[in-house]
Amino acid sequence: MTTAQARTTDSGAFDSLNPATDEVVGTFPIHTAEDVAAAVARAREAAGWWADLGFAGRAERLRRWNGVVTRRANQLAEVVHAETGKPHADAMLEIIPAIAHTAWAAKNARKVLGEQRRSPGLLMFNQAVTVEYQPLGVIGIIGPWNYPVLTPMGSIAYALAAGNAVVYKPSEYTPAVGQWLVDAFAEAVPEQPVFQQVTGFGATGAALCRAGVDKIAFTGSPATGKKIMAACAETLTPVLIEAGGKDALIVDADADVDAAADAAVWGAMSNAGQTCAGIERAYVHERVYDDFVAKVVEKSATVRPGFDADASIGPITMPAQLDIIRRHIADALARGARAVVGGADAVGDRYVQPTVLVDVPEDAEAVREETFGPTLTIAKVHDMDEAIAKANDSKYGLGGSVFSRANGMSLARRLRSGMTSINSVISFVGVPSVPFGGVGDSGFGRIHGPEGLREFGHPKAITRQRFRAPLTLTTFTRTKKVDAQVAKLITLLHGKRR
Ligand code: NAD
Repeated sequence: MTTAQARTTDSGAFDSLNPATDEVVGTFPIHTAEDVAAAVARAREAAGWWADLGFAGRAERLRRWNGVVTRRANQLAEVVHAETGKPHADAMLEIIPAIAHTAWAAKNARKVLGEQRRSPGLLMFNQAVTVEYQPLGVIGIIGPWNYPVLTPMGSIAYALAAGNAVVYKPSEYTPAVGQWLVDAFAEAVPEQPVFQQVTGFGATGAALCRAGVDKIAFTGSPATGKKIMAACAETLTPVLIEAGGKDALIVDADADVDAAADAAVWGAMSNAGQTCAGIERAYVHERVYDDFVAKVVEKSATVRPGFDADASIGPITMPAQLDIIRRHIADALARGARAVVGGADAVGDRYVQPTVLVDVPEDAEAVREETFGPTLTIAKVHDMDEAIAKANDSKYGLGGSVFSRANGMSLARRLRSGMTSINSVISFVGVPSVPFGGVGDSGFGRIHGPEGLREFGHPKAITRQRFRAPLTLTTFTRTKKVDAQVAKLITLLHGKRR
């Protein structure tokens, strides 16, 4: 079987191929359900050891791992470059924030997840109350190929910092990147298999969902997300879903148009548009529309696909995506859109030339569905109410961007999305302290930040009685007088307002 860059061999294994050259990058086993179960059993044992290390012991080891990744970042970037085709510099651009996230998770896990005192309230005033987030146990992480370091590390580093063991199933297109991360971890933490990888196609991922892990953190397409949820439902395994997006960039009349155009081009075209939180649509105030389009056209001319050292974007990593990009462009053009950059012939065998479409009907696939190529649609709007309404009229709601001098904050709040950047694009990804995740078909649950740490723990409440209260409720020896006094107290406190 060949699923484009991932090709099976005769011996229950598959090759990952360089999408620019078709060279074999690595050969990996297709793990069966039994293999996955064995990995989860090993992880279960390691999880106890890892949890017992406590926050300080884990933080120390995560820093050691992060040191290995940092010192050999160039080597890792070469593996990313080979397996995804993205330029080496773009590979570094995802490795650097991944390092920052790991450092943040290690440093902040105790503060976010450690024991916190809570108020006991009036009824249980004799109790000392604490909440702490305890590890879930073993986390199954299923990842995509487009950012094979940054995306899974948003789950892996946070799950490990929260005290869990991890079994990671990378995309069949990028197993060598996953193996590199696992090997680097084993070098820093040789004692136990706290972080393992299983490889294969969808069936291996499905087996992980059914292997009795304590949570699945999935990043990928909404269609696969639904299959993951169905599989996890069988065992009531909780899931976190980070799915696709159709992010919008909004340009207000008072915006810095040059900066907005620059951000739109980078947001739409970088990584050849294969970015979940990439910009795919722009809604631009009519007063600056012509200027914005002219600047986008000018700036797009400098974006060159290729595999050489100076290329700005690489090939499309997953060849099946070429058909989707071609279809979206053709459909838009057939329905009256104009290509001001690229167009009908933009999609080749491996590479896609930057394409900017204007006058695209709002119900065209290029506006409604995730294109995942270096394409951008630009629409003129009368005012920001229209921009917000059109941007929000999407089943997706991952990120987004607003360019405005006076109204950035209010516009950002009104965008239906998990994250919004004002006067820049995709900046939220590089801020470890903020959560990352979407609404609607973009998924649910959060990676990154305190919210991302809490995803991988369960809140354990403990009440400790400090003394016996005169009005004790939790006993059969309670008198009618006590009940009456408690009822009177609660009426006094909450019964006054009509
Ligand atoms: P995909 O859904 O095809 O595959 C993702 C992973 O799921 C792969 O490891 C795959 O082997 C596995 N898988 C496939 N079928 C499965 C099944 N039935 N059960 C269990 N696992 C299964 O996605 P992709 O093409 O690798 O990634 C691209 C998508 O990911 C895009 O939609 C993109 O927007 C999204 N993405 C989202 C984020 C985010 O954080 N929200 C980040 C990166 C990518």
